[in-house]
Amino acid sequence: MEGLPARQLAGVYLARETLDNPVLIYSTEAHYSLPKAAKILRIEALTCGADCSGAISPDALSGVIHANRHRSIILALTSGTTIKGAHDDITSCVSVLDRVGIDPSRRFVHVDGALNAMVLPFVDGLPNCIRPSFRHGIDSVSTSGHKMIGTPMPCGILVVRREHVSRVASAVSYLRSDDTTLMGSRNGHAVLAIWNRVMRLGIAGFRHNARTCIERAEGLAAAFRSAGIPVLLNPWSLTVVFPKPSERLVSEYQLACHDNSAHAIVMPNVKADLIDRFVGAYTAEWRCNSRQKVSS
Ligand SMILES: *Cc1c(COP(=O)(O)O)cnc(C)c1O
Repeated sequence: MEGLPARQLAGVYLARETLDNPVLIYSTEAHYSLPKAAKILRIEALTCGADCSGAISPDALSGVIHANRHRSIILALTSGTTIKGAHDDITSCVSVLDRVGIDPSRRFVHVDGALNAMVLPFVDGLPNCIRPSFRHGIDSVSTSGHKMIGTPMPCGILVVRREHVSRVASAVSYLRSDDTTLMGSRNGHAVLAIWNRVMRLGIAGFRHNARTCIERAEGLAAAFRSAGIPVLLNPWSLTVVFPKPSERLVSEYQLACHDNSAHAIVMPNVKADLIDRFVGAYTAEWRCNSRQKVSS
């Protein structure tokens, strides 16, 4: 278990220790911690384009990988992108590596599942290609403790194939164990907080939370659509994207904004009454603005 920026950093670090002079490829929709990790580790980093849903475009990825086909490649994918809540198609992205001829000894695939790696495993009917799973031949997956798991402090989990961890483990006699962490020590309270939430919720609890959050996000998107407001909600995602409202609403509902859009993430604490109040306030403002546009 690693702390805040440390998870992506630890993932990219383990990848670098595995590969010879690798290049990191991440999408333009990936989290800012990836270029940051590349900078700290002095790894060359290249971005790859995404489609309008926010997922990596396999064609764009193919171009970037092809141009770097003689290098070792660290590919960072995302399960639930920060702005649009998109899921990269893991199957297609891994098959791009295969097709270009980057064999498993020359690659490391990391899946950043900060939000949705704790949603997707708990829903039915999901296409296999976006399911965050080691069955795709990936090397690591990370998720946040303070998002779907619900710990009271920021923390997270990085799960890595054992062979990669063993490679960096150093025996520390003073600890009477091997040190496999990035920092050399870790927060035991964070471990307990995650354990507590996981044991309390159990698989049934996570399934319930995932299902209700997806339903509520769909409800929010449907309410916006019926008021004529353009929305983006990726399938099995909790992130609803819509045009940025007034500063008053942004501040009242603490919306994260990006250019001219804003998003709402329907977490388990976002209940029907809050959604109704938000939809009411937003649509009232929207109608008022449309009327002004018509009359001016
Ligand atoms: C929130 C988020 C992060 C950062 O995770 P923290 O646990 O808050 O550091 C990384 N990637 C994505 C896609 C996120 O949504």
